[in-house]
Amino acid sequence: MNLKNNHMNNIYCVGRNFAMHAKELNNPVPTSPFLFLKPSHALVEANGEKIVLPKDKGAIRYETELVLKVSKSYKRGITVDELVHSMALGLDMTLVDVQNDLKKKGQPWLLAKGFKNSAIITPFIPFPGVEDCKKVNFSLEKNEKTVQVGNIKDMIFDLQTIVDFVGLEFGLGEGDIIFTGTPQGVGNVENGDKLKLFWDKEILGECTVALK
Ligand code: ZN
Repeated sequence: MNLKNNHMNNIYCVGRNFAMHAKELNNPVPTSPFLFLKPSHALVEANGEKIVLPKDKGAIRYETELVLKVSKSYKRGITVDELVHSMALGLDMTLVDVQNDLKKKGQPWLLAKGFKNSAIITPFIPFPGVEDCKKVNFSLEKNEKTVQVGNIKDMIFDLQTIVDFVGLEFGLGEGDIIFTGTPQGVGNVENGDKLKLFWDKEILGECTVALK
C-alpha cells in the first residue's frame, strides 16, 4: 500500500496566534509558533446538518479559524501562494474543563482538542492568495449574532511563517490542513446553537450543535 496516495491528512493547529485572543484567555503571547495536532477522525463538514459534540465533558468552546489546505509537498523557499490552492473556515472545538485539567497535570491536549467532530470545516473554496486574504474578514455567527471577526493581518505569525515552521519541523504534503489560529471572541456552545461561518458576506458553512 502506498501511504502517500491515501487520504491520511495531518491536521495541524496553531495556538495563540492573535494577541487579543491570547490575552482574553490570560495566556502569554508566544515568541515562536505554537502547534498541536488533531486526529483525522476529528474532521466533520459544516454542511447544514447537526454536529454531535460530547455533553458530559464540561464546557465546549468554539474557535473560528482560517483553514489552509496544502496542495503539494513543502520545499524550503516555497511561498504560501504556491503551496496552498484551497481554503476553508473552521471551528477548532475545545473541551475547556478537560483542557484546564490537562494543563494542570502537564499532559498533552489531545483529549481536549482531538475528540470526534472537534475539527469542523466548511467546504473548501479557491485560496485567493495571501494579499487578497488580508482584504477579507472571516466571522462566526452564533444564533444570528456575530461573535467573532478575524483577519489574517492581525496574526502574530503570518501564514508564510506558519507554513515554513510546520514544513521544516514536521513536514507538509498534499492534503494536509492547517487551522491557523483564532481571533478574540471565543465562547461556549450549548445544545441547539446555530453556527454560521462567513467569508466576508458569503456563508461558507453552517451547522447546529447537538450535545449527546
Ligand atoms: Zn484554535
